Amino acid sequence: MSRNNSLNSIKDEIDKKVKIVVVSKTRSKKEILDIYNKDHRDFGENKVQEILEKHEKLPKDIRWHFIGHLQTNKVKYIIPFISLVHSVDSLKLLEEINKRAKAKNKIIKCLIQVKIANEESKYGFKINEISDVMNYASELEHILIKGLMGMATNTDNNNLIDREFKLLNTEFKKYKSKIFNVLSMGMSNDYILAISNESNMLRLGSIIFEVRK
Ligand SMILES: *Cc1c(COP(=O)(O)O)cnc(C)c1O
Repeated sequence: MSRNNSLNSIKDEIDKKVKIVVVSKTRSKKEILDIYNKDHRDFGENKVQEILEKHEKLPKDIRWHFIGHLQTNKVKYIIPFISLVHSVDSLKLLEEINKRAKAKNKIIKCLIQVKIANEESKYGFKINEISDVMNYASELEHILIKGLMGMATNTDNNNLIDREFKLLNTEFKKYKSKIFNVLSMGMSNDYILAISNESNMLRLGSIIFEVRK
């Protein structure tokens, strides 16, 4: 089987309403171009240095998603081109994105990262902090909160993953609107469960890139 077959087969499998962000961290520009040439445009990275280099060298119509912990001192570098920041995990970060976006006269689309796993992810707001973040962000003119992002526990206990995704979807529905309409959850190991819990944005890395023998 040739490389990247799985992207198109996954796309065929899932509903058109579910968007795939191909997580291209650590992958070469050549590997990314192979997928780009199959008409895919959304790619996700988790390191500022890496996304800058790839953005510079790869086609300009790629929509770049930032999915990792973002340090405030690096926000300014990605503001000119970033399509969606999935990983807003502090008010300080929101402030900084707003400030840098204002300087560039832009509005930056963001997701609130929510900690739904027990110990797995260090970053993200607690469920009961979401409403405060929403209120806070509503005062920031250069921020557009598009939805929520979460990562389930890295486990083969499907019941646990299912519960965590359900929790995030329940929160998502409280705020859902024409603008607040992105639920980013699901990775290679758990995307089926994510879809069954109404995720509409998957972040897929290994399943897309691993060469099948
Ligand atoms: C690496 C990463 C992914 C993709 O993980 P895979 O298991 O390779 O699909 C998704 N989301 C985030 C935040 C990541 O860091």
